Amino acid sequence: MSKNADEQHKHGAGPAIARRGLLYIVSSPSGAGKTTLARRVLAADPNITMSVSVTTRAPRPGEQQSVDYHFVDRTRFEQMRDGDELLEWAKVFDNFYGTPRAPVEAAISSGKDVLFDIDWQGAQQLSQKMPGDVVRVFVLPPSGDVLEDRLKTRAQDPPEIVAKRMAAASSEISHWPEYDYVIVNTDVETSVASALAILTAERLKRARLLGLSDFVRKLQSAL
Ligand code: 5GP
Repeated sequence: MSKNADEQHKHGAGPAIARRGLLYIVSSPSGAGKTTLARRVLAADPNITMSVSVTTRAPRPGEQQSVDYHFVDRTRFEQMRDGDELLEWAKVFDNFYGTPRAPVEAAISSGKDVLFDIDWQGAQQLSQKMPGDVVRVFVLPPSGDVLEDRLKTRAQDPPEIVAKRMAAASSEISHWPEYDYVIVNTDVETSVASALAILTAERLKRARLLGLSDFVRKLQSAL
């Protein structure tokens, strides 16, 4: 049994059948709780890794280079974008963000799943490039008031940025029909359980189980 198949097996994702990794995209307006949800999914499941984006935005207090983002200047970003090193990229709130291609391709070809905290523009690009591999989840706040409270208490951004993000929330939310699943994040534990349930179900999709034909052939020959 390969290491990956063994991990899958142990974590209840079905029999040890080799499969292609999936791209698990989580989008939401900022403040809907997406970052917490993503961290909890990563902590709960060893077969999914986070895609670390490159960005031209300045680090926030507590953010670490190459953990939260690869923080780069505009010149380096353009080099990566023009050198086809990015799987997708977008301009969000006056800064550039992009997904480095190589780690994603390596992960999914070895059967590991990758989690993306990217916006609707990134979700659209990945859906076009790798339609069979993406699973798209949109996280909604339970109400406008809750969203505003979360943005204010996060307190890492100046008030003008908070105001800008509130205004942007409505336009980000308008993209919800482009996603496969929607989680209304009223209670974090329920949302984490939903996010993990989606992951488990998507891993069991027949089209992703590359080793299924072999498995069934062996099964039949034993009957
Ligand atoms: P923040 O600056 O709050 O970390 O992120 C702002 C927005 O950019 C969030 O909606 C986040 O999901 C999105 N984002 C982060 N990285 C990427 C990326 O690599 N590509 C795209 N398209 N969006 C990203």
